[in-house]
Amino acid sequence: MNHPKPKLVVSACLNGEFVRYNGGSVEDPFVEKLLNYCQPISVCPEVSIGLGVPRAKVLIYWKDGYPRLFQPFTQRDLTEEMEKFSEEFLSSLPQVDGFLLKAKSPSCGVSNSTLSYKDPEGKVFSHRTKGLFAKKVLERFEDLPVEDEKRLRNEHIRRHFLIRLFSLARLREFMETAQHISQLMDFHKRNKYLLMLHSQVKLKEMGRLVATSKNFQETLKEYAKLFRLALKRSPSKGQWVNTFTHIFGYFSSRLNQKEKEHFFSLLEDFRKDLIEENVILELLKNWSFRFEEEYLQSQTLFEPYPKTLEKDT
Ligand code: SF4
Repeated sequence: MNHPKPKLVVSACLNGEFVRYNGGSVEDPFVEKLLNYCQPISVCPEVSIGLGVPRAKVLIYWKDGYPRLFQPFTQRDLTEEMEKFSEEFLSSLPQVDGFLLKAKSPSCGVSNSTLSYKDPEGKVFSHRTKGLFAKKVLERFEDLPVEDEKRLRNEHIRRHFLIRLFSLARLREFMETAQHISQLMDFHKRNKYLLMLHSQVKLKEMGRLVATSKNFQETLKEYAKLFRLALKRSPSKGQWVNTFTHIFGYFSSRLNQKEKEHFFSLLEDFRKDLIEENVILELLKNWSFRFEEEYLQSQTLFEPYPKTLEKDT
């Protein structure tokens, strides 16, 4: 399967640039591998607001209920500069497919991993929070995948991030060239089981939208919105089992008893966490070849992102 190259905004230090406060960068083998499959758009918010490399550390502290970005060594409050930069940078971006930002940073931290303090000197710990730049990203791009490199070490989070990132890139590329409702129908068909996996409700809504389209450009815009929303939630085990069972329906009458029993025992193993979803996906894909079900073979669900990204090393 051909995969698109997602436009991924990435913290510059994760992209091999020596921009950290201590003049270093961050080595993360999975991020390095992932970026080979993407069009990275690097950003270092701290360097972009004029802080040099190396630089004195900055931190977040709370004043009147609001987070402030502060550099104790110079006594500079950098909050307004960071907010201004974030707004301008995020407004200047082309259509992007996701963000991968550095964990724990007072600027880039996205997942409440950043330490924050009650005082500007950073002596009294308050709680963990998000970085200032990351906060703006999350507010503005709520339908895009936004993660940090540490959370991607969890395989469920990583897979969901990759599915969203590559699916949204596929959608973006499709939208750049699509001219006719028949092309959208075809796109929808190829994504049917991926969408079913994430949201049956949205799948139906999108099917109705495409079937009753009067104005192609408006339909396309609405479709893209629903597509992004549909993929937002990570699928539960029940949703996986439901999707597997639907696909199995294509072959069940042509399989022998032993093959059927094997399929249902794999579902049980999957429910009990003994095997990953990929084992069942491979079996179903094999059957799609054996029974020449071309419609199924073209389903993005079978390989939503490059296989080499399956492992985190
Ligand atoms: S975490 Fe963000 S602000 Fe800090 S060095 Fe990396 S890119 Fe720059």
